[in-house]
This record gives sequence, structure tokens and C-alpha cells, in this order.
Amino acid sequence: MTPPSSPPLSIIIIGAGFAGLTAAIECHRKGLTNLVLFEKSPSLSPLGDIISFGQNSSRIFTNWGNLPDLLSPIIHKADQVHFHDSSGRFVTTQSFKEEHLAWGERINGHRGEIHSLVYSHALSLGIPIRLGVTVTKYFETPSHAGVVTSSGEAHTADLVIAAEGVRSKARTLILGEEDHPLPSGYAVFRSWFPTPLSFFSSPLTSHLVSRGDTHNAWIGTDVHFLAASIKNGKEISWVCTHVDTSDISESWQFPGSKPAALSLLQNWDPVVKELVKATPEERLFDYKLVFRDPLPTFVSPEGRTILVGDAAHPFLPTSIQGASQAMEDGVVLAVCLDRIKGDGTKVKEAVRVWEGLRYERVHRVQKTGVTTREQWHKADWDVIWKEPEVLHLKREGWILDFDSERDAEERYERVREGLVKEGRL
Ligand SMILES: Cc1cc2nc3c(=O)[nH]c(=O)nc-3n(C[C@H](O)[C@H](O)[C@H](O)COP(=O)(O)OP(=O)(O)OC[C@H]3O[C@@H](n4cnc5c(N)ncnc54)[C@H](O)[C@@H]3O)c2cc1C
Repeated sequence: MTPPSSPPLSIIIIGAGFAGLTAAIECHRKGLTNLVLFEKSPSLSPLGDIISFGQNSSRIFTNWGNLPDLLSPIIHKADQVHFHDSSGRFVTTQSFKEEHLAWGERINGHRGEIHSLVYSHALSLGIPIRLGVTVTKYFETPSHAGVVTSSGEAHTADLVIAAEGVRSKARTLILGEEDHPLPSGYAVFRSWFPTPLSFFSSPLTSHLVSRGDTHNAWIGTDVHFLAASIKNGKEISWVCTHVDTSDISESWQFPGSKPAALSLLQNWDPVVKELVKATPEERLFDYKLVFRDPLPTFVSPEGRTILVGDAAHPFLPTSIQGASQAMEDGVVLAVCLDRIKGDGTKVKEAVRVWEGLRYERVHRVQKTGVTTREQWHKADWDVIWKEPEVLHLKREGWILDFDSERDAEERYERVREGLVKEGRL
């Protein structure tokens, strides 16, 4: 029962990435509308390149008005991927048709374009999003949590949701100390650009773009290269994951070097080299992958500040689940807060149960990032030529055919009772 005189549960969200926006939209969908979102960027420019949402998160978009219709024209349409060795010899095709029929569509597209549609949807609901506000400090007491912004303003609420991505400042409050990223030993060259006209006629590249969208993978020793054409071949995106131990700072916007990429791919398929050569210099980025050990908890000592998305659990791109798990966090959180609707004194219960529902799943999914990379980078080609399916992406039902909202509704009470028995509630 909600105490009759209590004000509605108040929430501050930091970060307007997919984690923060999903938490805001899903809370709003459950009637929790006393919230505000702070984002440090003064404007949301369409940054990034290809991003993937598995069926476990594409189903979330279907609850958000006409978003699926708006996404349809901008997403990648191929439902198969062709694998090659590094010299370009065809190895195998993996079809996604059956899983699309069984589990629904995946969504692959430009991060900036998809993000801007989600952002507009949040605005259309009336969610207050304050751009250009950087949070510099987190604090909490038993009765509330708060943040201080770079202009010195302090804001408090029943709950603070830190969705600030991999460089999260709230991790210090949660852990009681600063944690430092470790080099993963890998980096990714990434690019997205309008398909050059010459690609449509060149015998090297026309198969990539002339008959609609395509998806191709080239697998070498400790390097893999993925290329996808989008919007009926009009745009093209490629990513190349490779060994790199030089630098551990992490940013989506490090400029990449074409000569460095070409020298890495010297003896590779001419198709791959053509993709790199055609890349406009200013559209090539070099994303250094860092690694963070799993956190012992996502919840602050007083249970009033939590980490969601990459702030809690950064993913390797080879898991293809970073954005999906960030969205699941928001969906499950909204279910948990709905159970204590209006009662700010029960926030600790809601967030502890939320963590109980999320912790094991996100860390199990996180591990698939390493297994997929190793499956490709350390491939035994004697085995592969006999059994090419070894290269296929593992598409697992427990990850993809998963309804995070239903699961949370079904398990909330059991997890809560377990926490009570353990004396954690
Ligand atoms: C610019 C950018 C480009 C990206 N491009 C790709 C891509 O091409 N492909 C891909 O797979 N993934 C990409 N990602 C990462 C991907 O979006 C995330 O891994 C995933 O969606 C999880 O999202 P998140 O909301 O947890 O984190 P993020 O997407 O990192 O969002 C965090 C948000 O918090 C804001 N923020 C951070 N610190 C503060 C602060 N102190 N105060 C206020 N706001 C703060 C950031 O500006 C950002 O908007 C990109 C992320 C960013 C930020």
C-alpha cells in the first residue's frame, strides 16, 4: 500500500544512452513519471556506427508507439552472413531466417540514427531531458540520493540511476574506491560511409551493394573483419577487430589510420582492402577495447544509487549484446519500481531485487564476447574446412528468445523472498 500522503517516487537518471533512455521510457510506461534525465552532451549528434539489438531487446521497441515503423527503413535487411577466410575463400553461410521466424527480428543499424529515434520518442512522452548537464559527484543518505553538476547545482531524489557508460563516475560510490580499466589486448577499426558509386560497377565490390543489403565476415588469425551494407546498399559499414596493446584509453571517437589498417590487412582479400581504401579518412575510428572485472554489486550501500548499462557491465562487441543488456536493465528496473510504486521507503527492496534478477544473466552473456572472439581468432582451419559451421555465431535461445519484462514479473517475488531469507532485505 502506498502511504496516502507520500509524494510520487522521484528518480534522477544520468546519461541519455540506450540504458538511460530505456530506463526513463520504461519507468514512464509504468506510470513513474516523476523523473528527470541529465546528459552531458549539449546536443545529441548522430555519433557511432553499426550497433546491434538482438530479439531480446528489439521486442522492447515494440512497446514504444510507432518506433518499429520508424526503424524499418533505416535498418540492415540481410538475414544471412557469408564467412570467408582472410584470403577471400568462401567458407560457409549462416542463415538467420529460422530464428527470425521463431524469435522475431534483430535490429542492426546506425547507432546515431537509432539513438535519435529513441531520444525523440522519450521527448514525445514529455520526459524532461536536460542536455549539457555534466554530473561530477554522487552522494547518498539513508533517505535519498543525489548528484552535483559541473555548475555546482545539487539535485536529490529517492533513486539515482547512473547510466553514464564505461567511464561512470558513480562506480566510485558503489565500490568505495576508483576502479581502473585494463587493456583487453584488442582494438577495433570502425567505419560507416555512403557507398561510393564505383562500388556498384566494380567486379570486386558490386556483390556487396548491388542486390540489396549484404553481410560478410572474413576470419584471420587474431583478426576478423565484418562488412555490412545498409539501406539497399546505399551505405556501408565495416569493423575490424585486431590485437592492440598500445593504449588503454577508450573512446568511440579516436581517429583511425588507414595506412595502419591496410598494413594489418596486407595479404587479405582484395575486397577487404578495397573497403578500407574507399573509407573517407574522417570516417575511420579506432576503438580501443578495455576490460573491466565484473563488479561485486551494481547497488550503492544505501540502496539509492544504481549502475545500469555499460556503467555496470561493459561488453565486448563480439557479444553483440551490449545495447540489448543495457535496455533489459531499464525494463527490469521499471518492473521492480512498479512493485513499490509511490513508496520511496521501499527503493532498497526494488533495487536489490532488480540486481538479483540481472546479475547472473548479464555476466553470463558478457562471457560470450570472449568465446565468440576466440572461436574466430583462434580458429583451427583444418577443422573448419571439414566442419565450416564451427564459424557460425552461436545464437542461443536463453539470450535472444527472452522477455525481460515477463521474466521480472514472474520472478520478482521469489528473488525478494530469497533476499529476505539471506538477511539482505
Ligand atoms: C558516442 C558513442 C558512440 C557509440 N557508438 C557505438 C557503435 O557504433 N556501436 C556500438 O555497438 N556501440 C556504440 N556505443 C556504445 C553503445 O551505445 C553502448 O555500449 C550501449 O548502448 C550501452 O549504452 P549505455 O547507455 O550504457 O552507455 P552509452 O551509450 O555510453 O551512454 C552513456 C551516456 O551518458 C552520458 N554521460 C557520461 N558521463 C556523464 C556525466 N558525468 N554526466 C552526464 N552524462 C554523462 C554520455 O554522454 C552518454 O550519452 C557508443 C557509445 C557512445 C557514447
